[in-house]
Amino acid sequence: MQKYLLKSGTILNLFPSEVKPANIRISGGKITEVGKSLKQKANEEVIDCTGKFVMPGLVNSHTHLYSALARGMSGPQKAPVNFLEILQKIWWKLDKALDEESIYYSALVGSIEAVKYGTTTLIDHHASPNYILGSLGIIKQAMSDVGLRGILCYETTDRGGIKKRDEGLDENESFLLAHKSNPLFRGMVGAHASFTLSEDSMKKLGDMVNKYKSGIHIHVAEDKADVFDAEENYKINIVDRLVNHGVLTNKSILAHGVHLASNEISKVRKHKSWLVHNPRSNMNNRVGYAPISLFGERTALGTDGFPADMFEEGKVGFFRNQESSHQDRFARIVEMLQTGNTIISEIFGEKFGTITKGTQADLVVLDYKSPTPLSKENLIGHFIFGMNSSIVESVMINGEWVMWNHQLFGVDEEVAMKEAAKVAKKLWERM
Ligand SMILES: [Zn+2]
Repeated sequence: MQKYLLKSGTILNLFPSEVKPANIRISGGKITEVGKSLKQKANEEVIDCTGKFVMPGLVNSHTHLYSALARGMSGPQKAPVNFLEILQKIWWKLDKALDEESIYYSALVGSIEAVKYGTTTLIDHHASPNYILGSLGIIKQAMSDVGLRGILCYETTDRGGIKKRDEGLDENESFLLAHKSNPLFRGMVGAHASFTLSEDSMKKLGDMVNKYKSGIHIHVAEDKADVFDAEENYKINIVDRLVNHGVLTNKSILAHGVHLASNEISKVRKHKSWLVHNPRSNMNNRVGYAPISLFGERTALGTDGFPADMFEEGKVGFFRNQESSHQDRFARIVEMLQTGNTIISEIFGEKFGTITKGTQADLVVLDYKSPTPLSKENLIGHFIFGMNSSIVESVMINGEWVMWNHQLFGVDEEVAMKEAAKVAKKLWERM
């Protein structure tokens, strides 16, 4: 592994806010030293960061790479009237049409864009009912071709019957087992949502979470339909259902939580599970606004299939919060962005999300020309009202450059996008 000394840059941490000039030494995939006057060592390459900011990589805490080729796809003839119809008429048609080639190109396109936006880790939630076994390996391959870090799982569901449900469970288990100590990947126990899982399926998920001391990654109360299903069919609220099956652990990720009641949120917080807020998706699907002011500190930000531009997701989340009737504090969205790094720190068992000694070297070099004074006191204002992903110039993951001066190292972006467009056309025809 190459050793680097990033000289004369300015460290920028979003939360807690920090803006300070420093040199950064990187070796063996980690930040080994941070200081004002570090001298070049033997076998060390010096990178001049004069005038640039160096920020920890951003984390997308809930997404679906499989939806990357849906962009521009024509909608159903009759527009969906509710959330269930959005799933049935769009997403469940798309995921059924996915094959080996389209899973790879969806993941490749999503990974390329993530790096360009300064996102260094994706926590993905995958579904491809007609290509389940081996699907996570294909996603891993595409992400590895770009150089991205990932936490992957398959959305176990009863949608396609027992055989496909069991394949989903098997796919999660084999990926989990094979990536217990991988430098760039981990697995989780994936599940679609309470309303597509029987008691028997929930029990099997609980057994797997318990067996591997892992966590579940599941959609929770995204729409009222999920809440009603648990009440009608199991005479229980969703969170109690998850608790009863032992899947609510301190490693579990619950996406959305739009319709969780305050007592359910308290229970999630008591179990120290993660909640992931996805503002763009929630607004687009008109499912409602999540009560983020009750969510607590273990709350992160996801894009739920939208491109992994966390600058954009952060801004949309910020403005949605500003106009909300239960408005939360100014810095809330930026705290959520930082929480993504806390999730991966706990799941990988390494330090992420700061520019300090001993932290993993997942870094973003920003070329931000500020027209006004910039300090740690007003950094959040710059992030919301000035910065955007076009200022991401170079990206390092696990101590290796994956993008330098907007140019990716692992793949030819132009070739990949042209090929993806051909694959997307075939995918849309199959739908
Ligand atoms: Zn989702």
